[in-house]
Amino acid sequence: MKLTSRKFDALIIGAGGGGLRAALQLAQGDASVAVVSKVFPTRSHTVAAQGGVNAALANVTEDNWHWHMFDTIKGSDYLGDQDAIEYMCRAASRVVYELEHSGVPFSRLESGKIYQRAFGGQSRNFGGEQATRTCAAADRTGHAILHSLYQQNIRAKTHFFDEYFAIDLIIDKQGYVLGAVVMEIESGEILVIEAKATLIATGGAGQIYRTTTNALINTGDGMAMALRANIPLQDMEFFQFHPTGIAGKGMLITEGVRGEGGYLVNADNERFMERYAPKAKDLASRDVVSRAISIEVREGRGCGPEKDHVMLKIDHLGSEVIKKRLPGIRDTSMTFLKIDPILNPIPVYPTAHYTMGGIPTNRYGQVVIPVRDTPEEAVPGLYAAGECACVSVHGANRLGGNSLLDILVFGRAAANHIIQFLAETRYHRPLEESCVEQALQRVARWDKKGSGESVNQIKDELKRVMEAHCGVFRVDDVLREGVKKVEALAIRLQDAVIKDHSKIFNTARIEAMELENLMDIAKATVVSAQARTESRGAHSRIDFTERDDKHWLKHSLYFIDGHLDYKPVRTKPITVESFPPKARIY
Ligand SMILES: Cc1cc2nc3c(=O)[nH]c(=O)nc-3n(C[C@H](O)[C@H](O)[C@H](O)COP(=O)(O)OP(=O)(O)OC[C@H]3O[C@@H](n4cnc5c(N)ncnc54)[C@H](O)[C@@H]3O)c2cc1C
Repeated sequence: MKLTSRKFDALIIGAGGGGLRAALQLAQGDASVAVVSKVFPTRSHTVAAQGGVNAALANVTEDNWHWHMFDTIKGSDYLGDQDAIEYMCRAASRVVYELEHSGVPFSRLESGKIYQRAFGGQSRNFGGEQATRTCAAADRTGHAILHSLYQQNIRAKTHFFDEYFAIDLIIDKQGYVLGAVVMEIESGEILVIEAKATLIATGGAGQIYRTTTNALINTGDGMAMALRANIPLQDMEFFQFHPTGIAGKGMLITEGVRGEGGYLVNADNERFMERYAPKAKDLASRDVVSRAISIEVREGRGCGPEKDHVMLKIDHLGSEVIKKRLPGIRDTSMTFLKIDPILNPIPVYPTAHYTMGGIPTNRYGQVVIPVRDTPEEAVPGLYAAGECACVSVHGANRLGGNSLLDILVFGRAAANHIIQFLAETRYHRPLEESCVEQALQRVARWDKKGSGESVNQIKDELKRVMEAHCGVFRVDDVLREGVKKVEALAIRLQDAVIKDHSKIFNTARIEAMELENLMDIAKATVVSAQARTESRGAHSRIDFTERDDKHWLKHSLYFIDGHLDYKPVRTKPITVESFPPKARIY
């Protein structure tokens, strides 16, 4: 079959903050760069980020990057790679000032400097008083960043393929990544995009859970593409549950609300976080607050007729602060709950939020795979950045405000490495037709007619299974059953069909391929969770309640055939002393 083909120096799959920051760096470096996105770029999920981005600017309280580095390592429950964390925290001020200069309308202090608010897990002087480190544009920081980056890319002449769905990577027999096969969503036309370097920046996979802050587009497509290319996924057992999703619905109420002085209460009107985190209280790290809320509810101190949530109070902040600093939150609460938080508290419960695991990379954004008895090797021509990647700066638990930072720092770093790679790589490698076969078969499979189950039915079941078997608290027999159920669903998916072929839209084909991706990611998550017999960060085992550094201070690697391997944590920073594991107290 003759397929249309386009050639670029670099291909970026994903137009969220990670993809756009990389694209801008490449376009400004005179590379020809294509960005493919399944939604219009400014609808990418970065737009939903509320609270802000961390950088030790010290505009409100004394601060420096070394304290930020310590907090991030402690927050990660010592699973984060310390070289990458140092790199990120040192680069933070620079990337935030770059954003400021490219037009991001940050909120301002009286002094005119960028407004910063307190977020969970932030401290001064290596675990001392609360720091104030999160740079915010009201509670719409992601919106402000994404729109500015998009406008700057238009100016830099980045080539956008809007509403194109990436199906699979193109890889030759020698293992070089040569680009991707994509589908134009409106016409269904297949396009081959050849590139000397390809960056995956497809975001997270929150759609594996039923109650989630993530949009419908967060289906882990890039991670699943990597798996199909025989690249393992790292640390997939670590999925973050955000403590304050709207109860029963999942929409996010940013941690910035607690940073502004909001607090949680149970049915007895008790500020229960004082019991779980005497010092940091409501601003303890997310895993700690999520577990505390779950325990309050489990022990019968939940609010409402079902006693199934707790309350987030902000009425004491006053209407002026709420309208100025938290307008989006007020809007969300009034739209989805008909509750004005100026007057009444918001019912909240932990909700699936962030994929800490992902495609393993080094701090230059290169995708690296373990090779037995030798150092890791980079996959030639392949990079990953943002929530789909695992560099790993978040380890077992991400601190709020560090993901926007991660996408900006490592989007930029990957682009810088690609620029060097392009200088050494003058020509595109030849592409044989057989390299695109796998992608074409994926699309053709969904033209099959028959009387199988519907895609939506299986998707719904998958999300329920993940919620019931791999949530905030985990235990061996429930996880084992979860693995079996996901495996059974994967088999059922092979016979599923798109219902009513007379009315098929390409979006139905895409939903089906997204579900295949979700299935792989869900399996990676539950298999990795069952195997890790300790509690660390967001991975809380009822049957193994302690962190076990002797056996488990290591990253997991999940392969497409279902087997696991492990690799050491990079505990050596670049220029400073290591932070050895300690008990994590907030
Ligand atoms: C509600 C909410 C609030 C948050 N608030 C904060 C915050 O205040 N601070 C913070 O640090 N973090 C926050 N986060 C986390 C942070 O926003 C995300 O982790 C981050 O924005 C992810 O950026 P990204 O570039 O990796 O991916 P995304 O922004 O998710 O972009 C992914 C891109 O990939 C594209 N894509 C995916 N699959 C395909 C495919 N198959 N083909 C083509 N294109 C594809 C999509 O179209 C999109 O363009 C928040 C997250 C949520 C859900």
